[in-house]
Amino acid sequence: MELTLFNTLTRSKERFNSLTPLHVGMYTCGPTVYNFMHIGNLRSFLFEDVLRRTLMLNDYKVEHVMNITDVGHLTSDADDGEDKMLKGAKREQKTVWEIAEFYTHAFVADCQRLNLLAPTVLCKATDHITEQINMIRALEKKGFTYVHGGNVYFDTSKLPDYGKLARLQLNAETKARVDQDENKKHPHDFVLWFTKSKFQDQEMKWPSPWGVGYPGWHIECSAMATKYLGEQFDIHCGGIDHIPVHHTNEIAQTEGVTGKKPWVKYWMHGEFLVISSGEKMAKSGENFVILQTLIDRGIDPLDYRYFCLGTHYRNPLMFSFEALEGAKNARRRLNEKVLEFKKEGAQIIDRLERKAFGYLDNFTSDVNDDLNTPKALAIVWDVVKDDELTVSEKYSLLLKMDAVLGLKLDHVMEEKVPAAVVRLAHERLKARVARDWIKSDELRAEIDAMGWIVGDTKEGFELKKK
Ligand code: AMP
Ligand code: ZN
Repeated sequence: MELTLFNTLTRSKERFNSLTPLHVGMYTCGPTVYNFMHIGNLRSFLFEDVLRRTLMLNDYKVEHVMNITDVGHLTSDADDGEDKMLKGAKREQKTVWEIAEFYTHAFVADCQRLNLLAPTVLCKATDHITEQINMIRALEKKGFTYVHGGNVYFDTSKLPDYGKLARLQLNAETKARVDQDENKKHPHDFVLWFTKSKFQDQEMKWPSPWGVGYPGWHIECSAMATKYLGEQFDIHCGGIDHIPVHHTNEIAQTEGVTGKKPWVKYWMHGEFLVISSGEKMAKSGENFVILQTLIDRGIDPLDYRYFCLGTHYRNPLMFSFEALEGAKNARRRLNEKVLEFKKEGAQIIDRLERKAFGYLDNFTSDVNDDLNTPKALAIVWDVVKDDELTVSEKYSLLLKMDAVLGLKLDHVMEEKVPAAVVRLAHERLKARVARDWIKSDELRAEIDAMGWIVGDTKEGFELKKK
């Protein structure tokens, strides 16, 4: 079946054709590890995971490379501001290396909780300093660089198609707006190597042909992507904020070195998670929420995954706890249905017939239509409600669809009710038999406070997780 993806480079949905048959090279810009990821960052990683799973559904073997930005970098895209890693280290009274290590582990743990497939290669910028230096040297040899004020800059005027991804208008007006650093010959030029650190107590430094210092932010992705995926590969992703600067500069560096165009065939970008006032959730902002905050409020990371699936990745997603509760309830109902099918003896069927096959076909064509997960989720519910399907067909379909959705439907198990809750439910039943409604209500409230809902049945009671 045809797979189409929206390519930022051409601003259109394109039929996906990999460079090598049934093999995809995919690079996703990873986290900057000076703080926890907020759930906005995690939305981007979730979209990339759905993309990877969709490619796998289409029988592609995906080689997925993700970087960890553990070099100290500036808090803004301009070459000024505070060093992010140093800021984290000061806040927590740790070394920058400890900060990077701690938040890298925290990030990996978050990914596991969200059921994101682990990248084939997860590579740290600090482990690839030599590769970055070599790339800067190659750019230097080709005449793309200049040294000014102690730093090595990329000269954007040397690359005629600079800015093509973002369709930058390099006119005087734009120049005036982005001009920040007096050492730059042209406003869009950017640093490849810093030797003149603006931060006196910069801890991460390495020797280089230009002096002791550290790499600019963009070079790590060019160097590592090329190392692991070759000089040209299929897909590169990130959040939309990466289009005008980071990805634009990655393209300039890599195409500058290799001369091969396009470096990447499909560029894909996820829209933001926004907060009620419409602004994006940002690490530097005050109102950012991390995954643990959700867990502390009784929301499973997979509820958040379900919540994100409900909106197309190219649309902004408005965050609110109320909306998350809605996703949580919907996922609970779905899990209950799966349990029900299992109790009714559902078996996994490999070959689906007629109507069931049609559902799978529709689901595939929706995810293949630039990852239309909201439509795909609607099909999941159509399957659940269709009485013409056998429970085995329903169960088998849901598991096949879950290979893309990643909701762990194959792990759904009956929630073990804590003994204390069962005891209270028995006491409540006794109270009801004795027609002591006040006590019965008090016990219901107690059970509720423990996170369970008690219901009355012919046999006595049933307990469901809230
Ligand atoms: P960072 O650690 O800042 O490099 O961000 C990691 C990823 O999260 C990048 O791909 C960003 O584009 C993305 N990102 C940042 N803020 C948001 C947001 N509010 N919603 C969705 N993605 C975001
Ligand atoms: Zn990158």
